[in-house]
Amino acid sequence: MSQKQVEQLLDIQQNLMSVIALGEPLPQCLERIALGIELILPDPDVYCSILILEDQCLMHGAAPHLPKPYCEAIDGVQIGVGVGSCGTAAYTNERVVVADIEHDPLWKDYKDLALVHGLRACWSVPIVSSFGKVLGTFAIYYGHVRDADRDTVLLVERFSAFASFALERSLIDKRAQALTQALQHNSARFDSFAKAMPDLVIIFDETGNYVDIFGSQQESLILPKDMLKSRNLRDVLPPAKSNTMQGVISRCIEEQTLQTFEYELEVQSGLRVFEARVSPIHTYSKEQPELGHVIWVAQDISDRKAADDTIRKLSFYDTLTSLPNRQLLKERLATQLRKAISKSEYGAILYLDLQEFKRVNDALGVAGGDALLLEVSKRIAPKLDDRDSLARVGGDDFVILLDKTHRSLQWFSNYVTVVATKVLSAFDEKVCVFGSEFRVSARLGISIFGDQIISPEKLVNQAEAAMYRSKETGARMLFFDQEIQQSLDARIHMERDLERALSNNEITVHYQSQVLANGDIFGFEALVRWEHPEKGFVSPLAFIPLAEDLGIDEHVQDLVLRHVCGFVRVLEGLPGVAPNFRVAMNISAVQFIKDDFESFLLNVLQAFDISPSRLTLEITEGTLLEDTERVIAQMQRLRSLGFELSIDDFGTGYSSLSYLQRLPVDELKIDKSFVDGVLIGDKERSIVDAIIYLARQLDCRIVAEGVEQQEQAAYLRDQNVDVFQGYLFSKPLDVEALLTRLSNKVVGSTFDQLKQA
Ligand code: C2E
Ligand code: CA
Ligand code: CA
Repeated sequence: MSQKQVEQLLDIQQNLMSVIALGEPLPQCLERIALGIELILPDPDVYCSILILEDQCLMHGAAPHLPKPYCEAIDGVQIGVGVGSCGTAAYTNERVVVADIEHDPLWKDYKDLALVHGLRACWSVPIVSSFGKVLGTFAIYYGHVRDADRDTVLLVERFSAFASFALERSLIDKRAQALTQALQHNSARFDSFAKAMPDLVIIFDETGNYVDIFGSQQESLILPKDMLKSRNLRDVLPPAKSNTMQGVISRCIEEQTLQTFEYELEVQSGLRVFEARVSPIHTYSKEQPELGHVIWVAQDISDRKAADDTIRKLSFYDTLTSLPNRQLLKERLATQLRKAISKSEYGAILYLDLQEFKRVNDALGVAGGDALLLEVSKRIAPKLDDRDSLARVGGDDFVILLDKTHRSLQWFSNYVTVVATKVLSAFDEKVCVFGSEFRVSARLGISIFGDQIISPEKLVNQAEAAMYRSKETGARMLFFDQEIQQSLDARIHMERDLERALSNNEITVHYQSQVLANGDIFGFEALVRWEHPEKGFVSPLAFIPLAEDLGIDEHVQDLVLRHVCGFVRVLEGLPGVAPNFRVAMNISAVQFIKDDFESFLLNVLQAFDISPSRLTLEITEGTLLEDTERVIAQMQRLRSLGFELSIDDFGTGYSSLSYLQRLPVDELKIDKSFVDGVLIGDKERSIVDAIIYLARQLDCRIVAEGVEQQEQAAYLRDQNVDVFQGYLFSKPLDVEALLTRLSNKVVGSTFDQLKQA
């Protein structure tokens, strides 16, 4: 190659490379290459042709000086051996030099076409990709027969390399284009997806610029989307917010990890709470591939937050009065306890219980009770310091946690007494509920803390215990003390023991005889007994309420009923027992108003094959106060089944005659206190007379209970009392002792003696 040719080659090469690299379209690139070789070859009768292989066919690439009709004729020819120089070269992937088209067998089918256009020789080399794949052919034609020379072949090969470069580049471009299209397609898909999704998606670059914004929640943006694009967080958000958000972006890029972040922002739709998930993305920007970006997916969680708040409120505040509930009180108390102990000071809680809540609730229904509670809470609040906590911890129970603490116990006790008096003064005036006036009174139990570590629950229990004790003693307020602690401890022990008692067969039933004026046995009253292994007999008055608190009263009731049924079976047909004898059972209010009480009775009776007419159910006037209409309905149902109903402790309640007249009752039991009155004096006796008179009006059987002395029995018999029960005739006895006595006929003998007297 001559010096000039080399210089030309280098020149052309450089030019071609830059043109190809700059992405000039393929046809122009190929044209330049073809012109380049034509220029460099000294022979003026030379024509370059570049064909591109597509699907085994050669397509026109570039041929600036070949006759157009010839180019058109060969465009799209299928490659193969014998398809001229190019078809053969492309097919065999080898250089094919045909010096004389007219006589070369490879040109047999195409020589006429070539010769017509004055083409006599054709050298062709395959254009091969960097991976060895044939991309097309690079050929030079001569208008005369010409054999290959080494220099020219080298040049042809070099230029075919340029062509290969251009073709490859264009393929890459094509692929890139396809890729871009796919990306665009995908991004369109992402866009439509983002439009439908409930989240807001923002792409930020590392400096806090809004790069892209997607999503349906455009009103969750601080400004309309178009006003935000390309602006910086700093320019649109308050400094405090933009700083924190920028901090999250920076951390996300620095650590290359997902960040979650909750924030509150005043956006177009108002003040909203968002939860963001922020994750890093790589090379988001074509222009600045080195710039870090994050994808910020924000979800509006305001509604969820509000719901959370409501739930929090529900779990910490009483819905009726909006006062803190037991849970919140416990938390505040725990804090106050720690504070007091650490400062060596005393603090206090006051437990308040309303006396007449039940009455109002029964008289005016639940709505009336609620109105009363609301009124009471409104009255107490102004008696307290703003920082004191008034909590409602149950039905009609309130607890006050005082904010004040003090070093001196003496001083503090005085202070608490003053506050307690003020609180009680809230009840000086009658309370008006639904137009009716009620006098409501309250009792306070006070517990002082600070001198020892104690749990909030225990403190509340102490104050409650003091409140209960105040009820017993009649005091309006009572400080928790050692004595109350002891009874509290005793109660806790008793509870534990009672739970064991049932399975240990410590609970049994004794029976006390009821006799007629002629000395015959009318029946028996079943009285439950707990024989404590250490304490001996525990009064049912003490353990029945305990069982109710523990929720095991049903078991006790069941045990008694089964015992009674067994007793009835033993008595039936026993000589000396009247065939129509009855057994009376005491039924607590809690049991009596239970929905399944009736079926409970019937099931057990059926199991023992015993008629309901054997049983008298004793209830107190207190039970009638529970839920009067419901109790009356229950009484009617039970009576229609054959049970008899008795009012126990008659005269001690508040029932009026007109009220009692409505009741389906078979028997009244005159309370022991009236029976005792018989022997005291005229005044007391006149009360007994009045009670008996009242009972007569109700036209039921009258039973006098607690009869201990002959004089009492004689007086009551003269007043036409029907049935007598008391130690005078018999103490309550276990079944064995009772049966022995029955066989000896001791029971009725008292009246026999009386008759003789
Ligand atoms: P209550 O129904 O008024 O029963 C009469 C109480 O007076 C019994 O006390 C009995 O032992 C006692 N008593 C009988 N005669 C005399 C007497 O002449 N002098 C004196 N001083 N006392 C006499 P108890 O057995 O301790 O029962 C106390 C209360 O416990 C009963 O009062 C009743 O309300 C309740 N109770 C007893 N057994 C049961 C039961 O099985 N279930 C329920 N729910 N309560 C029961
Ligand atoms: Ca009774
Ligand atoms: Ca009684």
